[in-house]
Amino acid sequence: MVETFYNGYSGKQRNSTAKPARAYFASLDPTAPPHPCALCGDPDRPPTQWHSEDYSLPVTIAPPQTYPLCNACHGRIHKRFKAPAGEWELFCRHVDAGGYGREFTGLYAAPARKRMGEAIAAGLPVDLPAIRPRPDGPAWWRDLSLDPESLIAAWARPRPLRPRPDADTFRAALSSIGVSPKEEAILRFHAAARHRSVTMRAVARAVLNTDRPTTANLAYGRLARRLCEHLAWDPDRRDDGSPIWMSIVAEGWTPHSTPQAPREFEWVMVPTLAALFASPSGTPGVG
Ligand SMILES: [Zn+2]
Repeated sequence: MVETFYNGYSGKQRNSTAKPARAYFASLDPTAPPHPCALCGDPDRPPTQWHSEDYSLPVTIAPPQTYPLCNACHGRIHKRFKAPAGEWELFCRHVDAGGYGREFTGLYAAPARKRMGEAIAAGLPVDLPAIRPRPDGPAWWRDLSLDPESLIAAWARPRPLRPRPDADTFRAALSSIGVSPKEEAILRFHAAARHRSVTMRAVARAVLNTDRPTTANLAYGRLARRLCEHLAWDPDRRDDGSPIWMSIVAEGWTPHSTPQAPREFEWVMVPTLAALFASPSGTPGVG
């Protein structure tokens, strides 16, 4: 059981994949050699040590959703957010040099790791000697975020938690229901936002000339409801069963907020819809 967030998935959401994962592990041939570590290439890893980057539905126990990892690489991935400056990059360079995860601390003791990590963080050249040829394959771990917000933010999910309509379906639906210039401005503002993540207050200020989030909630929610009804798409629901119409266009999340740096609830536009409004030019069928 995990209780912490990762890539925008709560502990509860992460645990929901445990059953399909167990079924997959049970299906493995115990006499077959285990997959080598998908990060360092170490052939000697526990067969049931896997790491998920993507807990969205449908669950797949295979890359790029889930990777077979050795213990050392798995630990480094989860500890990268709190690691001393430069240490995750140093570990990646050790792997680039052909090193296995389990060899890292033996080759580089704590004082050396600290010194080299600080040098990397300062932008100084740090070259590690080659250990063995690297296995081929995409260096997917090089794209992992070091932003601690990625732990809890819906924008960090590789896919929406459950499938959304594809871009063509969205395009046709928007054309059918008719989108007002104001609604198109909302969609364009949302698609262009950093991480596709906005507060309703930001939408209200940027597009609706008001400081009131409820005005944006109403305007955006009406558009989302028309989309849901046109596509007969079942929206997420609150505990009382009432529909969350916005869920067809975006996923909500609660940023970490402090009295000194208050944050409000944010909505992350789903990628298939954002793709239609990402370019400054018009979208076919909309406008
Ligand atoms: Zn490894």
